[in-house]
Amino acid sequence: MRLDELPTSDRVEDRRGMTAGRAGGIGIGTVLVLTLVGWAFGVDPRLLIGGAEQLSEGSQTQQQQGPTGTPSDNTGRFVSAVLGSTEDVWTNVFAHAGKTYEPPTLVMFSGATQSGCGFAQAAMGPFYCPIDQKVYLDTSFFQDLEQRFGACDVGSKTCQFSQAYVIAHEIGHHVQNVLGLLPQVQQAQRAMDQPESNSLQVRVELQADCLAGVWANRAQAKWQFIEPGDVESALQTASAIGDDRLQRQAQGYVVPDSFTHGSSAQRSQWFTTGLKSGDVASCDTFRAQ
Ligand SMILES: [Zn+2]
Repeated sequence: MRLDELPTSDRVEDRRGMTAGRAGGIGIGTVLVLTLVGWAFGVDPRLLIGGAEQLSEGSQTQQQQGPTGTPSDNTGRFVSAVLGSTEDVWTNVFAHAGKTYEPPTLVMFSGATQSGCGFAQAAMGPFYCPIDQKVYLDTSFFQDLEQRFGACDVGSKTCQFSQAYVIAHEIGHHVQNVLGLLPQVQQAQRAMDQPESNSLQVRVELQADCLAGVWANRAQAKWQFIEPGDVESALQTASAIGDDRLQRQAQGYVVPDSFTHGSSAQRSQWFTTGLKSGDVASCDTFRAQ
């Protein structure tokens, strides 16, 4: 992908190199919740919001704040450009619907940090916290994408597009949140048994993939930034990450068998749907069979 024409965002909070003080009340439950959150590189709003309720009781969450702006290093500039393009795209989509888009902050961190949803660790992968409306991204995840997951060729531009897709997916969760969908899903899940609830969760994830596709479509129309191989690389990424999560399970992380974020085929299908249509209305994963 080409970065040169993408607008940069100044909503990148840079906590790289900061140490995260773990607050007293946060225990294994929080870590478990957030490990689940990071599974399949996405947020699970049911666990997040449910988890946050648990958190608010026992934790004295320490506030952490890094400088916010546009970082000057390569990775920071890349993240800022992708975030900037999502701001432009979603501002326009919302304006078209008579709404105002309030963009989220993206927190870059290394190792561990405090989030509005509890203690965040690098091993979790990127996630969106609906409580503080921030996307959390440990940039070592980008290296993992290249080196461990084999999702794309190391240092290649197609790898960049895979990384951009991961960010766009998290921004998709923010869009779902500000449109009121995440709270609705959470409410509906309260009355559901586990399989039903999981099935609804899959639809949330697939919709975020579709919204990432909508972003790619609109950004492409405006900046022609996609290069040959990029889309294939992004599609490959979803399945590659799924594999790694299974490895984590083998390493002793607790992941319920019943919990799923959709098959690779489904994820590819919905990203492609959004990419082809550029239309949010095409992302009704809740109505689709
Ligand atoms: Zn997700």
